Amino acid sequence: MTIRAVDRQLIEEHLRRALERQEFALHYQPIIDLRTGAVTGVEALIRWTHPTRGSVLPGQFIPVAEDCGLILPIGAWVLREACAQAQAWADAGLPRMTVAVNVSAMQLMHESFVTDVFSILDETGLDPKYLELELTESALMRRADLAASILSTLRKAGIRVAVDDFGTGYSSLSYLRRFPLDALKIDQSFVQQITTPPNETIVRAIISMGRSLNLRVIAEGVEIQAQLDFLKAYQCDEAQGHYFGWPVPPQQLAKLLEADPVEMVPAETV
Ligand code: C2E
Ligand code: CA
Ligand code: CA
Repeated sequence: MTIRAVDRQLIEEHLRRALERQEFALHYQPIIDLRTGAVTGVEALIRWTHPTRGSVLPGQFIPVAEDCGLILPIGAWVLREACAQAQAWADAGLPRMTVAVNVSAMQLMHESFVTDVFSILDETGLDPKYLELELTESALMRRADLAASILSTLRKAGIRVAVDDFGTGYSSLSYLRRFPLDALKIDQSFVQQITTPPNETIVRAIISMGRSLNLRVIAEGVEIQAQLDFLKAYQCDEAQGHYFGWPVPPQQLAKLLEADPVEMVPAETV
């Protein structure tokens, strides 16, 4: 076996025990309304602290968890934890905001997904309108009819749906119209190279496509002022990235939110 295959097997073995050993945590990254500078939501991002390797990035273990099916219990844990945290912030009197949770294709298609989501909302007391599920284009397209019907059940209950990494897949406008959606998240690869063609054109096209479909458009991976200026000039609705804040543990995020919201965005950009 190659070193990579052995490594994968090791990750899988350790992943199996990670949930019961409570090695996972969620970090939260703020999402900002570009018109007001206020934090409208947060994205929950999983973190794994391995007992010997230290922190392992989601890019290294999520694909393994998807392959071996462990994404189902891990995904359910993420959903419960994120909803409970959002409700805890609301109970503590923090401004209301949406919590965005990443959902893998396998999770979405699993027969108990819809009932799991409803029972988690019920258990945690979170109003469904504060939950946004993020799905990639490929997760939606794999079994488009099934995905559309699952999403429409969730959306009728008030849950929001966003397309993640938008622009990297193959979805066409006519396909997109078939899904009940609320938002498009422009993939960070376009945002980071925003001032160089053809990314400039792609970002502008996504923003206007979002507007014509009546969807919010969220730019990911905003790191510098020039990217923010561009997005504001083309009236992108929301943005997320290191420029505004890194993903942080919940206690740190609460401190950030207690501060004056305008401080999140440097004064000259508000
Ligand atoms: P994603 O959903 O596209 O999440 C955004 C990623 O961009 C995060 O990486 C975040 O830390 C990073 N990021 C945020 N702002 C910036 C920025 O300004 N510059 C740059 N270069 N990066 C930025 P992270 O946390 O490593 O997550 C990677 C991917 O792993 C996520 O991409 C998502 O696909 C997946 N993932 C993370 N948490 C979960 C989860 O709970 N469930 C599932 N199914 N997938 C997850
Ligand atoms: Ca995401
Ligand atoms: Ca993304």
